[in-house]
Amino acid sequence: MANVVWHKNFRILLDLTRDDLDHPELPGLWDLIYAADRFYGRRGVPVSERDLQCGGVCRDMGVEAPMHLRMRGGRREAVHERREDEERHSVPMSDEHKAYQERILRVAHEGGFGGDSEVRTRVGRTWIQTDTLVEGADGRRIGWEVQLSTIDERGLRGVRARAGKAAKNGITPAWHTDRLAYAQRNDTHWTRSDRLPAHLIARNGDLRIVSGFRALDFWHCDTNALYPCPDGIRRCGKAHATARPRDIFFDDMVRQTAAGTIVPIQFRAGKTVHRYWVTSADRDRLDDLNSDDTRLPIERDAAPASGASRNRPTCQPTVAPPAHPSLPAQPAFPAQPSAPALETAPTAALLHADRHEQVTDTTTGLPTELITLQQAADDAHLRLQQLHDHHERDLQRKAWREAAEAAQAAVTHYARSKRLNRYEVEARLRQFVRHTAR
Ligand SMILES: [Zn+2]
Ligand SMILES: [Zn+2]
Repeated sequence: MANVVWHKNFRILLDLTRDDLDHPELPGLWDLIYAADRFYGRRGVPVSERDLQCGGVCRDMGVEAPMHLRMRGGRREAVHERREDEERHSVPMSDEHKAYQERILRVAHEGGFGGDSEVRTRVGRTWIQTDTLVEGADGRRIGWEVQLSTIDERGLRGVRARAGKAAKNGITPAWHTDRLAYAQRNDTHWTRSDRLPAHLIARNGDLRIVSGFRALDFWHCDTNALYPCPDGIRRCGKAHATARPRDIFFDDMVRQTAAGTIVPIQFRAGKTVHRYWVTSADRDRLDDLNSDDTRLPIERDAAPASGASRNRPTCQPTVAPPAHPSLPAQPAFPAQPSAPALETAPTAALLHADRHEQVTDTTTGLPTELITLQQAADDAHLRLQQLHDHHERDLQRKAWREAAEAAQAAVTHYARSKRLNRYEVEARLRQFVRHTAR
């Protein structure tokens, strides 16, 4: 028996503990589906070919478990057709699992966050069932799912679908296990601890996450680099990121995911997409690294929204085109910009281009102005990769954004005025600047 039934054709969950099946908008629903089920029964239609499936544990685990309805002593009941499905419901939650739930909630509360176990979140006409839900900062919701070695592998069907559904509905899925085989799956952001007895999990002592959290190393691909270039055999001169596994305390993981300072990422290496957790600072830096002029990183609030406005230093760097494109080892912020900042603003550049005869580069046939702007944008991006300080990075990201926007605007303007394909102009420009010019 189960209390929650999934109606395949109506695509709704029915809560048998409620008179209206939790669908006040559909009066007479029970009479309708019960009559239909009885009718099927009299006609000899097999249960598996009717409308109803288990909407509880079975569905959560991705198993389609046929059910039929009956009335017992005036009570509505839904019955599994197969014994194996029924048994899935009678497996009691292990003590270890309960200990994890309690620990997550305790640690969350100590960190100032709310939460609850076995939370049902309404999503349209269905629900999301969450093992332990932590209500974090800024409306963040972390959905902890603990899958210990006490369950069998079939319980892991549909992980990606469940995690995806949670994520789509504003719940960050956080799956935790003590089993190596689960942690190596790539279907969600798994974390793993060693297998421990319940009394140790419940205690305040150290509980470590031994896989699933990583620190990102940002490095420059030159002859001093410790890692091989991910793109080739030789040194490419670009910035790269390499993920290193790192242990973290489970309690820190609970609190920092709620606070938003540890976040899930997807990291593509070759053909595989790896999923793991990193600090939000690492994530931001990776975004910067992976961004391109055409895919600028999302604008983030550089300063906390609350409190008195902090006066930022007025040392905002400008990204004037360097006099010599061959990048010498410059200090991060030149004390004196080599040209007025305004020169790089799109409008200034365009006005300039309109008023004067364009100087054309003889190799590419492109205006030298475009080349200069693209070089400036690339230089600004490269410099961003070399900075470590958070504040400096914010400033440099802004500078890069402005330089990239200027280059983009100039490309658009040029392509339009010459009736050229914008994409091809941009591709030719980048090819030249990034692979030929230096
Ligand atoms: Zn079931
Ligand atoms: Zn490289």
